[in-house]
Amino acid sequence: MSLPIVLIVDDPAPLVNVYWWHAAEAQATENPLLATGEAVARDIPVDFLRHFASVIATRGIKGKFSVLPYPAGLGAITDGWSGCDQAGLSRWLDLVRREVVPLMDITPEILTHARALDLESLSLLPENERAWSRHQNAATMTPYISYALEILNAADLQATGVTSPWDFGIDVESQYRVAIRDAMRQVNGRSQSWYFLHQEIRDTAFRSHVVYREGDSWQVSLWSQVGDPLWNTMNSRETGAGYVNSIADGYLSEDGSSGRLVELFRAATPIVWCTHWQSLYSNGRMTGLQALDEIGRRIDALWGDAITWMKCSELAAMIAQRG
Ligand SMILES: [Zn+2]
Repeated sequence: MSLPIVLIVDDPAPLVNVYWWHAAEAQATENPLLATGEAVARDIPVDFLRHFASVIATRGIKGKFSVLPYPAGLGAITDGWSGCDQAGLSRWLDLVRREVVPLMDITPEILTHARALDLESLSLLPENERAWSRHQNAATMTPYISYALEILNAADLQATGVTSPWDFGIDVESQYRVAIRDAMRQVNGRSQSWYFLHQEIRDTAFRSHVVYREGDSWQVSLWSQVGDPLWNTMNSRETGAGYVNSIADGYLSEDGSSGRLVELFRAATPIVWCTHWQSLYSNGRMTGLQALDEIGRRIDALWGDAITWMKCSELAAMIAQRG
């Protein structure tokens, strides 16, 4: 049987680089820097999405693509925000609908992936969503997740699952699961869904599993089992083919003998691989995206029909059917 593989792309948002907000918070500055000394890019142009769409189409890469519904707390993607390039916002969303949706599930990564939003006043709370989640329960998280799903629906991007910003919900996971199920049922009429929160990037035992089942209803927790060395491309000024190939080698060497994907392939463990929008953008150099393209080429050249790219919802359904 052909081995499933999915690529989870965390953190995409129209026009903004949400990582800028993460770095600004972590470095307590309005001018966050990378290890190279460069300023972190605050925006990611629509053209980058076009390049990404071309790579996944060429390589047949499938999985999940987050769309932050209320990126960085600036405003809902259905309305834009102060200073927003409205034409760029529409172009970005349109490209996602036409070029990404055929290959990838869409999920929110809850609302802002920055400071939490007060749903009554639509003002930002002092805490980020990760810290906020630690003292929530199903009753408070359900409307929060529902609002994220409603914004995506209004943008004609219906989600099949939920991605956790950082480790959102990890301390209250049983309540978080209930909230995801209730929001999915109420807003999207879905009783079969999945979420992404955990990772295990060393051993090769398959970690994704069913966490809830009742009648035809199920919920699957997908675990990433591949780390994100593409992230390092943000912190290197190198752009040559040798550099890009060396990053690809960490996943799958040219001869197929080494790399994290090889470890999982040899163990016959379905490959759930997480990367980030900023890892692919590489602060404008796009070396991460070039490495993804090269890894996709090697996967096809070395493994061909022994591997099957699929959407996360398809992998979740396989796991649920297997029981
Ligand atoms: Zn994220």
